[in-house]
This record gives sequence, C-alpha cells and structure tokens, in this order.
Amino acid sequence: MDRKDKKVLIVDDQYGIRVLLQEVLDKEGYTIFQAPNGVTALEIVKEHQPDLVLLDMKIPGMDGLEILRHIRTIEPDTKVIMMTAYGELDLIKEATVLGAITHFTKPFDIDELRQAVNAQLVS
Ligand SMILES: [Mg+2]
Repeated sequence: MDRKDKKVLIVDDQYGIRVLLQEVLDKEGYTIFQAPNGVTALEIVKEHQPDLVLLDMKIPGMDGLEILRHIRTIEPDTKVIMMTAYGELDLIKEATVLGAITHFTKPFDIDELRQAVNAQLVS
C-alpha cells in the first residue's frame, strides 16, 4: 500500500508542534491533517477516518482524553498516540484504558516519534 493512502491527524493547540510534525510526517509520505482543537479534530475524524491520530493531552476546551473518548465512539479502531507533559501519569493511564497505543512526553525526540508512527503504519 502506498504511504499516501495512510492518513495521519495531528491534534495540538500549539501551531509550532503541528508544523513540525506535519513537516516530518509529510516527508515520510503520509497524507496529513491538522487540528488545533477538539471540534476540528472530530470533524476530520468523521470525514476522513485517519489511520492514526497524534493527540495532545493538554488542549484548551476539549482536552485530549475527551477527544479520545469521542474518537472511540466515531471510529473505534483508530490508532492513537498521545503527546503529554511531564507528570500527567493519571491522564496517561486513562488514555491507555481508552486504547491509546503509547505516549510521548514533551519535549519528545522527533525521530523516535517518527519511528513510532512508521511502526504503526508501515507493514
Ligand atoms: Mg497543548
């Protein structure tokens, strides 16, 4: 399968993080979508059914866990990797219960994250 057929949604309220991830994953050949908040993220999930979502935990308004819960009701099989801050262990545990594959603590190693995405999408 062509990598362009794999869709990745980046959800983060920080513009700089979205741009960085977009650039790195674009180079890997995936089709990328971006959302700065939960409402937009869920619209994209409904319309495009991304294969994988990179989901920030701390987002004003609907936070990462709430977005994850909604994703699970819309597209239960979507792969989700959380992006968290140091010390969010309880939230990470809850995300794991909701089926998040793994998490990366900010500031994360972009190369490790790239490899984790590839491990999930390239077979
Ligand atoms: Mg944030």
